[in-house]
Amino acid sequence: TPAQPVTTLATQASADLFERARTVTPGGVNSPVRAFNAVGGTPRFIRSAKGAWLTDVDGNDYVDLICSWGPMLLGHAHPEVQAAVADAVARGTSYGTPTVPEVELAEEMVARTPVEKIRFVSSGTEATMSAIRLARGFTGRDVVVKFAGCYHGHVDALLASAGSGLATFAVPGTPGVPASSTELTLVLPYNDRQAVLDVFAEHGSRIACVITEAAAGNMGVVPPEPGFNQFLAQTCRENGALFVSDEVMTGFRASKEGQWGLDGKVEGWVPDLVTFGKVMGGGFPAAAFGGRADVMASLSPEGPVYQAGTLSGNPVATTAGLTTLRLATDEVYAHIGSAADVIKTAASEALTAAGVTHTVQSTGTMFSVFFCEGPVKDFADASRTDSAAYKAFFHSMLDSGVYLPPSAYEAWFLSSAHDDRAVQHVLDALPAAARAAAA
Ligand code: PLP
Repeated sequence: TPAQPVTTLATQASADLFERARTVTPGGVNSPVRAFNAVGGTPRFIRSAKGAWLTDVDGNDYVDLICSWGPMLLGHAHPEVQAAVADAVARGTSYGTPTVPEVELAEEMVARTPVEKIRFVSSGTEATMSAIRLARGFTGRDVVVKFAGCYHGHVDALLASAGSGLATFAVPGTPGVPASSTELTLVLPYNDRQAVLDVFAEHGSRIACVITEAAAGNMGVVPPEPGFNQFLAQTCRENGALFVSDEVMTGFRASKEGQWGLDGKVEGWVPDLVTFGKVMGGGFPAAAFGGRADVMASLSPEGPVYQAGTLSGNPVATTAGLTTLRLATDEVYAHIGSAADVIKTAASEALTAAGVTHTVQSTGTMFSVFFCEGPVKDFADASRTDSAAYKAFFHSMLDSGVYLPPSAYEAWFLSSAHDDRAVQHVLDALPAAARAAAA
């Protein structure tokens, strides 16, 4: 086993909890990346969070640059979100009936995005799974096209790797997914228009939908090349397929109107279906899919395509999401955008000074730092990242009290609570981390 990273912080309480967790939970965690496998060391068990800061069970404070992997747009324990949630909880936590906040949240989301109708679910995985079922049900076709490096949750059909040729069907990306679940999936290189044209030429009449992250964020931030999403929307339309834009990460995060506010709105096109999650749940398990009214009309009980959920549209979760979105004003995005600019500029300067090869890429207020040469335009490019350098960088930052994503292939997330003190704390940590990455 590789040497454990040296830390100057007290981590015994986290280490003890990790040991306990591992006896009752596979790998000690409930989502793999939390186990620090990619970077080594002791995963920090967080006891509380406030604004831009996390506090672990040993009492260490960290500036949080993952923000729960996107949702915490307003920072942790925002007083108005907390008050609204406390008020909702006081009125009961789940009824299994229609409620007021789910109507209001749907109205808010319809007003801010290109979707005409919305259905709530509890996770991004459920959103993409349901969107694909709906696309298949609506079109009466069975093939799904996705892009390598785009993550849409752990949906069987989407945990797929490219087959032997680009126009050949995919193979399971993990044990447990039967070949029959991926044999209707085609996996293409991101940003590759010719590959899209080729699969439509060969399989066009069978393609139900193309699903893509609105801007890739799960291989690090890889924005669509200018016009790429428009090209996908148009190619789908010309071929009777649906264009499914996955905004689980980018929605209400890349901009006030998500990635669509940065491209579709400007270029004048709309996706047929959109999936949402993260920010719209305000830190609670809530997600959604929505889109064209005629497509959504195929969904049960209005139409024949079945979809349901015991906790879907949960009143506490939708209250948290609604309150978050109402507070997510232009000023919030402007603040996050300028804090992001300061941090990415400083990160790049520190890495350059230390002689570390890197590339910073962004879309709207979302960005990431690749430890390789750029531009990174697809998964093959992203895979050149020097994960050993990132590991050293990550641990130096962590030791200085900055919590970065424990994987080299992730976006860095900020919030409106990242004030000058939090940003300065990150800036102060960067030079030593850059030198560690160079070593
Ligand atoms: N789609 C995208 C773009 C995501 O980033 C994620 C999660 O990171 C998902 C879907 C899955 O969402 P969840 O983890 O809520 O199932």
